[in-house]
Amino acid sequence: MSYPKFLIAFPLVTFLLITSCKNDDDSVDQPDQPTPVSTPLSAFDEFNPDAVTISFDGDEITIESNGLPNHTSPYWEETNPLYIEPVVATRMTPGGIGSRSIIVTVPAAPAIASSSTATGLGPIGISVTGVPIFNDQEGDNRPIEEMIVETFDYAGAHVGPSGYHYHTESADVPENTVLSHDDEKLIGIMADGFLLYGRREMDGSYPTDLDESGGHYGATQHSEGEEFYHYHIINEFYLGTIIALFAVDLQGTPNNIM
Ligand SMILES: [Zn+2]
Ligand SMILES: [Zn+2]
Repeated sequence: MSYPKFLIAFPLVTFLLITSCKNDDDSVDQPDQPTPVSTPLSAFDEFNPDAVTISFDGDEITIESNGLPNHTSPYWEETNPLYIEPVVATRMTPGGIGSRSIIVTVPAAPAIASSSTATGLGPIGISVTGVPIFNDQEGDNRPIEEMIVETFDYAGAHVGPSGYHYHTESADVPENTVLSHDDEKLIGIMADGFLLYGRREMDGSYPTDLDESGGHYGATQHSEGEEFYHYHIINEFYLGTIIALFAVDLQGTPNNIM
């Protein structure tokens, strides 16, 4: 979709004028928010091109996925070349991997919001494979528990009413040749536009300065030394046995993942 630029520009100019007028008032206390940094574009090269389409439009980036991962799973139909017998799942949820549309538009330079936001049910991010990222809930007030963990394939995913989705970090099994496990790989992009990386920094160490959302300012393998805010999978076992991908609040402003 594209609108004539002036339709977008005019309200923005008005907004900026109003904002700058307000700033002239010395009584307004401006909190010390760091200037947003653009998300390094080379990170988007990591996304599975068979499933994910990335569109850059000035200040915004749109990520669209058909939800079909580029890795094996027992949740594929048995006729699919990527179908395998279960490796870690001992029980399967009904249904299988199917094509759908998942889309989110985020700012190219996302900002930290004045307050954090809890995530809800449904997609809270889109992973590099194209599969949506879910939080640590399986329903209203129903956190991931042992009975649900049994249904995860090695990718940390299962099928729910809205399709195939990830909850946890993938398992360290020979079948896993694609997904991050206890490393520095990019996991995906969250609804607020910030990138989510694996548990480690690019030098192999565990970050020690993470905020309560697993976020910090730092350089990654994609940013050529430039520091920008990004999340890591928090290196803590959730309910004793699993590593949740993202069981915390978002520090930016969430955009709708449809
Ligand atoms: Zn689920
Ligand atoms: Zn980092």
